[in-house]
Amino acid sequence: MTASILVVEDEPAIQALIATNLRRHGHAVSAALSAEDALRQIKAALPDLILLDWMLPGLSGLECARRLRADPRTKNVPIIMLTARGAEEDRVTGLEGGADDYVTKPFSPRELLARIQAVLRRGRPQASADVVEAGGLKLDPVAHRVFAAGLPVNLGPTEFRLLHFLMTHSSRVHSRDQLLDQVWGDHVYVEERTVDVHIRRLRAALEPSGLDTLVQTVRGSGYRFSVDSQ
Ligand code: CA
Repeated sequence: MTASILVVEDEPAIQALIATNLRRHGHAVSAALSAEDALRQIKAALPDLILLDWMLPGLSGLECARRLRADPRTKNVPIIMLTARGAEEDRVTGLEGGADDYVTKPFSPRELLARIQAVLRRGRPQASADVVEAGGLKLDPVAHRVFAAGLPVNLGPTEFRLLHFLMTHSSRVHSRDQLLDQVWGDHVYVEERTVDVHIRRLRAALEPSGLDTLVQTVRGSGYRFSVDSQ
């Protein structure tokens, strides 16, 4: 599983080492030298995961994690804290502050990669290989196939990802902005109405089976997948 990872580390040598290692394993890496810079970058584009150094000049890694957790847009982005501190107390503080995991320096590149994979798997239920079924719809992520009332449905890759995300996060309303972050991975270069276009295509593909009603519009808020009628 490869991801876009933001590395927040104020020591350029360590930052470069981590970035090189992650890129070698197929991850797309961006880097920040401070929490303030990281928050600016996150505002422009949401990464799949953040490696966050605890000891940073200015805003600390811990405070940065707290801010990310307090914002609905960033509260689910996985965070791994990097730190020279090894004390149990700091570990607990870090996890309570919103980190998903914790790696103590010095760490081996292999250990870091293993932790990243583990956190990515936990944090992305829609990326799992499990077959999802609801309301007569069945989506198989491995075979990349969708069945509506037992009959195959032809979906484009974006509609497929959109449906997978909606089905694995059902009954909740998702704004266009959230869907862009979660399904497109980055909301910067995509207009919000793009979401409407793909929702329309998804519904059109489901219409023959009558299951297009599972993809519901919530006026003024966004979209939701629900087996209950509106
Ligand atoms: Ca540091």
